[in-house]
Parts: sequence; structure tokens; C-alpha cells
Amino acid sequence: MFVNRVMRQAIKVNHAFTSASSLSPSRQAAKILSTRFYSSTTQPAPLDASKLQINPSKNLKALQENNQLVFGKTFTDNMLIVEWEAGKGWGTPQIKEYGKLQLEPSAVVFHYSFECFEGMKAYKDKNGKTRLFRPDLNMARFNRSAQRIALPGFDGEELTKLIKEFLKVDDRWIPKGRGYSLYLRPTMIGTQESLGVGASNKAMIFVIASPVGPYFPSGFNAVNLLATSEKVRAWPGGTGDAKIGGNYAPCIKPQLDANKEGFQQNLWLFGHDHQVTEVGTMNCFVYWKNEQGENELVTPDLDGSILPGVTRDSILSLARQWGEFKVSERKFTMKDLVKADKEGRIIEMFGAGTACIVCPIKKIHYDGQDIHVPLDPSDKTSQAGKLTKRINNAIMDIQYGDVEGPKGWSVVV
Ligand SMILES: *Cc1c(COP(=O)(O)O)cnc(C)c1O
Repeated sequence: MFVNRVMRQAIKVNHAFTSASSLSPSRQAAKILSTRFYSSTTQPAPLDASKLQINPSKNLKALQENNQLVFGKTFTDNMLIVEWEAGKGWGTPQIKEYGKLQLEPSAVVFHYSFECFEGMKAYKDKNGKTRLFRPDLNMARFNRSAQRIALPGFDGEELTKLIKEFLKVDDRWIPKGRGYSLYLRPTMIGTQESLGVGASNKAMIFVIASPVGPYFPSGFNAVNLLATSEKVRAWPGGTGDAKIGGNYAPCIKPQLDANKEGFQQNLWLFGHDHQVTEVGTMNCFVYWKNEQGENELVTPDLDGSILPGVTRDSILSLARQWGEFKVSERKFTMKDLVKADKEGRIIEMFGAGTACIVCPIKKIHYDGQDIHVPLDPSDKTSQAGKLTKRINNAIMDIQYGDVEGPKGWSVVV
């Protein structure tokens, strides 16, 4: 095979000028290949926001009324795009008219799911300034997701700078009002034209943006869940902790099956003991009186199968800062939930993610039975528990700059 020939040559060349090496022949070859063929004299270029070129769209689209916004359907006038090539590194970032990508059908993204993404939002505060919420966490996760599928890393601060420039160009698209925001979808794909199953030697980051309204336009709407164990979303050692496209398509059929039976989302379980993992594409929180009689907010620990949500982390930080109840990251099972339900110890349950912040849960169907999760006992009309509402408000206050949150959480563009 060609690669083997090149590797043998590379090892020979290496032996010609380094006699003693502690690396195995294959590691030597990889090292030499990467220096000989990919970087010759110069280092690959890092992602560099100062190289940005802006050629904004001249065909400005009509804005939609706030009450017409549907999640992820309308996109702004422009997009941010930057390409990468092995050996050369990151190219010139560009902001240009939102439009079609040109890729060959052989591009690896179409065959082996070389794709990862982020979901974050830009908010308008009451002084008209644009704010991002903890973009450093999105950038760190984006890098980890990319590296999990052998796509290139990048300097997250540079991508944040580029996103800020993109937000300035498409500023008119950021809807005003609490609950409204511009959803940002940074995406990285492998673009090498090859059916060989291997690392992509070309990649692309693009960022597109979509104005969105509140997840619950007319107040909270608590959801019914189907506890699902025969299909598994993620498993230890798998990729559940990475935001890669390949994790999502396989969850749609089980979701449609759940929808048919009247459930909005799957409660994803794992293992013989039916550990609770996530709710749809949200992290899962339970607030209960635990077996020791303490009030406890609990969410599964990050064991590699749980997506490390920015919202999850923010809720844990805030709740720990409040210091009013125990806050735990640990495993719990359906058996624990069923027992807590029987003993009347469940106080609230909710999903958590950027799209909704929190999504209250009212019922879980499991093993032929229903677990009824309380909402707010002091307000029969309320569709969310007291703690769920408090967390939602606390996070929104910081996102919209009404309250100065922990240092670095709300970033003014
Ligand atoms: C994106 C995502 C979340 C939530 O993450 P946030 O950063 O809070 O938006 C949770 N679970 C899954 C599976 C996700 O894809």
C-alpha cells in the first residue's frame, strides 16, 4: 500500500540522521510524516481572528416579527466560515452571505460523520448591548468534540473573537426582549474527498445564526417522559460526552416512537440497573428528599456518557453558591426514583440545556407505571416547580445582564 511505502521511506530517512530513537517504528514514521509532509519549514497556522475578511451580504432579508420566530428555521444574512488543511493549518476566516456550501459527494462528513457542533446564544441586554453566556465553555467543549473525531483543534478565544465580529455584522438579527435571543450554531466538518476511513486532512468551521423566541412562549409546559432502556443513547467509553452529529440521528426513531404514545421526550436509561442519564438532549436534574432525609439536587456525574452541559454546570455552580440544600453529581437509578415516588420524596424534576434553560417534567412512564412528579404545590396552575422557576430566573437574569453573575459568565460583545 502507498501509505506503507511512504512510512517505510520515512523510517529509512529518519534512520539516516537519527541513530538512537526510543520511538517504535510506527511512531517514528508518524512523527516524521507529520514533520516531513505536513509542516516542512513553517508551523501550521493557528486560527487567527486578526486575518478576518468581511464581505457582507448585499441582499438583506426581511426580519421576522418576534412572535413569528420558530426555532432554527430562519437564518441571518451572513455566516462565518474558516477552512483548515493538514500541514497548512487554519486559513483566512470570512464573514460572507449565508448560503450553500460546495462539497464533493466523497467528502468524509457524508460517509463517516465527521461533524461536531455547539449550541449557544447571543442576548440583547436592556442597554442594547450584545452578550454571550460562558462562551469559553462552549469553545472548550467544541475543541474536545473535534478532537474526539480527529478533527483539528483551534484557539477558542480566537473563535470567540470571530463570533463577536459576526454578531456585529448581523446585529439587527438579534431579537430584543427577555426570552429572545440569537441562537448560534458553530459547526466543524471533515471535508477531505476520500472514502478511506481515516483522519480528514481538510476541515471547515462554519457558524450560522438563527433568531429564536422563548422555548415556552406562553409560560412553562411540563413534559411527559417515556423511560427508555431498550435503545441506549450513550455508554461509558462511547461518545455521549461529545457534541458530535453521530450521537443524534440514532435518537430520533425512539423519540418518534415515544411521541406516538403521547410522550414528548425519552428519559434515556443505561445499564441493567436502569441508571437515569439524560432527558432527550438535555441534562437531567432531580430535586428530592434523599434517603437520609436531606433536600438534595442531583444530576448524573460526568462518567463519559453524559454531555457536559453549560447549563448543567451553571445550575450546579449557582445551587452550590446558594448553599441551601445538598448538591450532588452521582448516579441514581429508576429504582431510586420509583422508591422516592412511593415515599413521596420527589420534589421536582427538570431537563436542562441552552434551548430552554430548564424544562419541567411532570410524568415518567416506566415499566408499565407512571411516576407523577410534583410541580408547584402552592400554585395549582403552575407548570413548573419553585426551584425550577428560581433557577430559570437566576440564569436568565445573568444572560440578559440584569444581574452581575459570577465573573466571566456574561461576556459583553
Ligand atoms: C447540548 C446538549 C445538552 C445541553 O448542553 P448545554 O450546553 O447546556 O446547552 C445536554 N445533553 C445533550 C445530549 C446535548 O447535546
